[in-house]
Formats: sequence, structure tokens, C-alpha cells
Amino acid sequence: MDNTPDTIYQDYQFLSWSQQIRWWLIFWGKISVMQKKVDVILQKITSSNNFKEKYKFLVFQSSSTQVLHTKNKEIYIPSGLLVIAKNNDQIAFILSHEIAHWENQDIRNNQVPIHRSPWQITEAECLADKKAIEISLLAQYSRKEIDALLLSLKNERPVCE
Ligand SMILES: [Zn+2]
Repeated sequence: MDNTPDTIYQDYQFLSWSQQIRWWLIFWGKISVMQKKVDVILQKITSSNNFKEKYKFLVFQSSSTQVLHTKNKEIYIPSGLLVIAKNNDQIAFILSHEIAHWENQDIRNNQVPIHRSPWQITEAECLADKKAIEISLLAQYSRKEIDALLLSLKNERPVCE
């Protein structure tokens, strides 16, 4: 985790001009690697689920875990949320959870779910988790890894029943 853009950023201000250019190239490289990974996982999820809508995820650099949804199903996902995931199965669950908010009709008229810290565990969140597990399993992702992710978040975000 010490290789995340945020940690690198702490040293950024001490770099020379040419080193800063190099830093940006590495930095954008990391974001584009994350974006490619997300695209591949989303493809796997959508090909094994029958969604009526077409979803798109856009990775952006932020230490936040706040996901932003737009009306046209573009979902902006912060790098800070993706680095929590230890493998593709856990990324798949995170993406599935956001899709679940649309599939469960939680997002209407620009209404976005609350994923702020401390995360509020509402009924909608638990239902989104439940739906996200179904979506992930249909795409052949591991239940064991999803449970491990939920367990690792239990201090910030209580596990649903
Ligand atoms: Zn949610």
C-alpha cells in the first residue's frame, strides 16, 4: 500500500521540475492501469448479468472512498476505494455494489447513496451488498474474497446481517 499515489505525493513537492514530470507519468500510469483493470472486470460482470442499463466506471485520483454517480450511469470511482481491494474478486464486489444501487432503484433524480466516512449502514446499503454478492457470483468471482473484504471493513462499516 505504500506505493499508492497519495504516499508518493508527500515527496512530490521536494522533486525537481524534471522529476515532477516523471512523477506525473508514473502517477497517470497507475490510474490508467487501475482503469484498465476496472474495464476488464466490468466487462466480465456485464457479460454474465442481464442488466437493462449500460454502466461505465471512470477511475479518478482521490484518497476518498466517495463514489459519484451521474444520471447517465457513469460511475466515478476514486483510486482510494480501489486500493482497499486486495484482488480482482474484491474489485468486482465494489463495482457490483455500485451497480446494485442502480439495479435496486436507489438512485433516482440525482439521488446518490451515502458512502461517506463513517459509512452509514442503511437498509439500502445492506440490500446493495446482497445484490452485489449475487452479481459477483454470477460473474464467477469468489464469495470467500468478498467476505474477507467485508470483514476487513468491519471497523468503518458494520457487516450486514
Ligand atoms: Zn452503497
